[in-house]
Amino acid sequence: MFTIKGKKTDWELVIGLETHIEVLSNSKLFSGASADYNPTVAPNTQVSMIDVAMPGMLPVLNEYCVEQAIKMGLGLNAEISRHSKFARKQYFYPDLPQGYQISQPAEEPPIVGRGWVEIMGDDGQPKKILIERAHLEQDAGKLKHDVHPTKSFADYNRTGVALLEIVTFLDTKNPENNSYISSPDEAERYLREIREIARALGVSKANMEEGSMRADVNVSVRPVGSNEFRTRTETKNMVSFKFIKSAIEYEARRQIEIYENGGTVSQDTMRYSQADGTTSVMRSKEDALDYRYFPDPDLLPLEISEETIERIRSNMPELPAATRARYIRDYGLTEYDAARLTETTDISKWFDTAVDNKPARAKPIANWMISELFAHPENWDMKNAVDTSDQGTARIITPSDLAELVDMIATNEINGKQAKEIFIKMLDGESGTPRNIADKFGMKQITDAAAIESVVNDIITKNAAQVEQYKSGKTGLLGFFVGAVMKATGGKANPAVVNEILRKKLS
Ligand code: ADP
Ligand code: MG
Repeated sequence: MFTIKGKKTDWELVIGLETHIEVLSNSKLFSGASADYNPTVAPNTQVSMIDVAMPGMLPVLNEYCVEQAIKMGLGLNAEISRHSKFARKQYFYPDLPQGYQISQPAEEPPIVGRGWVEIMGDDGQPKKILIERAHLEQDAGKLKHDVHPTKSFADYNRTGVALLEIVTFLDTKNPENNSYISSPDEAERYLREIREIARALGVSKANMEEGSMRADVNVSVRPVGSNEFRTRTETKNMVSFKFIKSAIEYEARRQIEIYENGGTVSQDTMRYSQADGTTSVMRSKEDALDYRYFPDPDLLPLEISEETIERIRSNMPELPAATRARYIRDYGLTEYDAARLTETTDISKWFDTAVDNKPARAKPIANWMISELFAHPENWDMKNAVDTSDQGTARIITPSDLAELVDMIATNEINGKQAKEIFIKMLDGESGTPRNIADKFGMKQITDAAAIESVVNDIITKNAAQVEQYKSGKTGLLGFFVGAVMKATGGKANPAVVNEILRKKLS
């Protein structure tokens, strides 16, 4: 369990995330304007009369965005509400000209209800993180204050684009239910899992750097062993895994210090400073905005049929949790290895392609990927799970390369040491498949017992003194003999065969 040492006691963390993902769709949630507002698009060129709230304009719900929300809901193992509603959340700020945001209020059933995602907990075991809800709402535009000394500009391209807000659940009625995020690392793994589910489903790019995924981070602390939930603070609009982890840790330490000095934490909304990694109060709950939700009279209640839900369910691709389960079940991978190989869909596709090449070698392929390839991200194109063997000087190691290399070890064509050498040559830009490289550099392994035996005989004759010592009980010298044989064969001998012959000869 992740804890922070205080002066008197150790403290544990309770974390709740409200994650916004931008929904992929051609048009906005309630208008026909393009939802592809990428930064190269000129300001205010993808704006409809609805987005800027011209009088008399009526919003029309985009059914595709609804389907996207249902897809994500199913990906979160959640209940999909057959009936839900939209309401106006009062919000008076120039980036949303309506003067309110159309959202789904907390008091009403949202489109996506209770669910869960599975992450790897800090103990290396699978952990369920409960989801309270996910709802659709409009995004706001962008204000630019740095273009002109006395004027601010508004870009409404993003105004009205669909967001899905996913909120984690805290079971306050059953405090022993610990299916919530309880460390900075778990927060990161949760967000990565959400990202990969969204990407696998094509629901969102869920890219923090591009702003298509952002999170509000709720944190509280309590002494280890206690199961009360103390007052939490909320740090708004976080856009990087690194900053989120740093904000959680800073905020937890800040709260611990307050408690240890006899104070109380107040339920504030915090702002995080990227410059120094600190959090500070932005507004207190007392000045919290009164959203005054009220039903949007322009929109009918949202009715979703059972058939629609079932149609979407039957078209769901394999999601990361199912992929992990498959790796553990079919290939005997550990929980940890399965988690590493499903960090992104591109990685799992790469692994799947390699295994398709050599189905019997899944486990060593996984080991090589995690211990060797992950250390050289520049040398393998995780996005390109398709084989494109030799790509000029910037050598890309392909799934079939790795499958072949691993298979050559398994079939005794080369030994582990030679495999490493071939691997390094590939990293250095050597072209051709591992077998081509082995041929070119004469790296065939010697497994022929007769050939090895003659080298062994030679070594034994040359090292009579060591042979005596070995025979009188210094069996630790075996390594010395193995080393000598390997050296004499230029590292080409099969170590298992060498060991066997040496033992026989020396006994
Ligand atoms: P609000 O309506 O004020 O935003 P919510 O009930 O929607 O509050 O909760 C927002 C997030 O904060 C949820 O993810 C929830 O699990 C989390 N949360 C609630 N109470 C606590 C607490 N005591 N400590 C940490 N997180 C909390
Ligand atoms: Mg909330």
